Amino acid sequence: MKEDTTGSLKDLQDIDLQLENLRSRAAEFDPLLDEVEEPSLALEQEVGTLKNRLQEMKVEERRLEHSADDRRARSKKLEERLKSVRNLREEAAVRAEMDLLRQALEADEQEALTLLDQIRRMEDRLDEQQAALDQARADVEPRRLQLLEEQKNVLEKYGALKEKREEYAELVPDRERLDYERIRGGGRSVAVASLTPDGACGHCFGMIPLQVQNEVRKGASGIACEACGVLLSVGDDLG
Ligand SMILES: [Zn+2]
Repeated sequence: MKEDTTGSLKDLQDIDLQLENLRSRAAEFDPLLDEVEEPSLALEQEVGTLKNRLQEMKVEERRLEHSADDRRARSKKLEERLKSVRNLREEAAVRAEMDLLRQALEADEQEALTLLDQIRRMEDRLDEQQAALDQARADVEPRRLQLLEEQKNVLEKYGALKEKREEYAELVPDRERLDYERIRGGGRSVAVASLTPDGACGHCFGMIPLQVQNEVRKGASGIACEACGVLLSVGDDLG
């Protein structure tokens, strides 16, 4: 670092590279977390499907109950009507309708019973799968929490360094910083490199013309390596 309080681009870049490193370390936890959660995700999906199916079956079962209630009510009315028939022909017609109703009612009841049986079995299966899901979650919970904790630590380090970075960036002269940000904004990690002691670019190691070397060594800013485009700064051993 330079002796005065002016910030150097090299130091700013060091911080930025550390920030990039921390960010990618934090991102490495995501696939690990996915992996840990995968077995329970499959079970979660199955439990969800079972719950939906069960819900549909219960709705259908209620529909059958209502239908059976309706038919019973209509049966009762027909029984009443039977008392006031005026002749055998009318009586036969009413009885025929009652027979049809009874058959339909029996079919409804049979269907409802079958459905209730299926519902019970599905509820058992749901209980089993739910228990398996709880178990799967419990099995990976310590590992999941550990990963989350480690990721949180990295992100906290990142946050703290990011704050320091903003403070430090204030110390770098605006013009230098803008050049630097422009080059990094183009997607490059390395935007500034020191001259090597023998006068090469510290990034691509291409030789820098002597006159340019001298300007850089005198502290001129904003001079880029013609070969690779990074800003040149005085080397740490010279600065
Ligand atoms: Zn270069």
